[in-house]
Amino acid sequence: MSDKNKKNTEKRYVFGPVPSRRLGLSLGVDIIPFKVCPLDCVYCQLGRTTEKTIERSQYAPIEDVLAELKTYLDRKVQADYITLSGSGEPTLHSRLGELIEKIKSMTDIPVAVLTNGVLFYDESVRADCSKADLVLPSLDGAGQEEFEKINRPYAGISIENVVAGLSEFRRQYKGRIWLEVFIVEGFNTEAGQIAKIKSAIAKIKPDKIQLNSVARPTADNNIKKVDSKRLLEIANQLGQDCEIITPGNWGNKTSPMYIGIKRTRQDVLDMLRRRPCSLEDLCRGLGLVRNEAVKYIESLQNEGLIQAVETEGIVYFKSL
Ligand code: SF4
Repeated sequence: MSDKNKKNTEKRYVFGPVPSRRLGLSLGVDIIPFKVCPLDCVYCQLGRTTEKTIERSQYAPIEDVLAELKTYLDRKVQADYITLSGSGEPTLHSRLGELIEKIKSMTDIPVAVLTNGVLFYDESVRADCSKADLVLPSLDGAGQEEFEKINRPYAGISIENVVAGLSEFRRQYKGRIWLEVFIVEGFNTEAGQIAKIKSAIAKIKPDKIQLNSVARPTADNNIKKVDSKRLLEIANQLGQDCEIITPGNWGNKTSPMYIGIKRTRQDVLDMLRRRPCSLEDLCRGLGLVRNEAVKYIESLQNEGLIQAVETEGIVYFKSL
């Protein structure tokens, strides 16, 4: 993020609800600063990792996070999930379990954790995540070579330990696990690589596998999406619990307008700080009418806070 953007952006922890291809309407809770993560995935839509770490710490004061979330709940926000996700890896937060418990005491909306799954070898991470209703880890390569090529992990992380940690979590956890496999052409598309992922999945035993590919601007250039025919072949190879997440298909999900609550330019910027969005994403996610969204986008562009990037024929706006 540029200094200019930092200066012009007040820190907010809660964003959305955003229309999520995996979760319906997801109210995001972002507890990690941009962009602190144990990985630096080639396909990351947030750009390159600036602090690669495995150190758990209290990155955000959970009392402030909960106070902000309360303002959304008081306004009767509608969401399918409250999702720990955002600018970095949420399991790096050392009070994650306590935060989930407190959120669940405030609302009946289920809590999900969107994670790269890398830290699940750590017992305290498994204990924290076991308090959530749904955990969505990732596994893009089950051999060390492809893991390092796609995910560029913190030095010393072995994919064997990652799979062992997720398998152990499965044994302990009574909630649902939806495992995401992100397929990148030329990185993890060979039959042998898919076979290794399938063996790892047999150990992790997720309730569902979600196959994904490039749909938004990525950290590295030249990252190619896999065509739908090959994705279908891979889905069939991975088994019957595997679904393909169709890029850009939000169905009829639209965020409801809150009575008496006007969306602001800051809401648009908050959303774009967490992921690049098209005009349609912004309208659906924030309940904005098109003209209003265009007005905010133009104003943010004029101030140099966001830029337009075209991917797969769709124009996305991303924060700078
Ligand atoms: S995609 Fe997720 S796990 Fe990978 S670098 Fe980005 S934030 Fe980290």
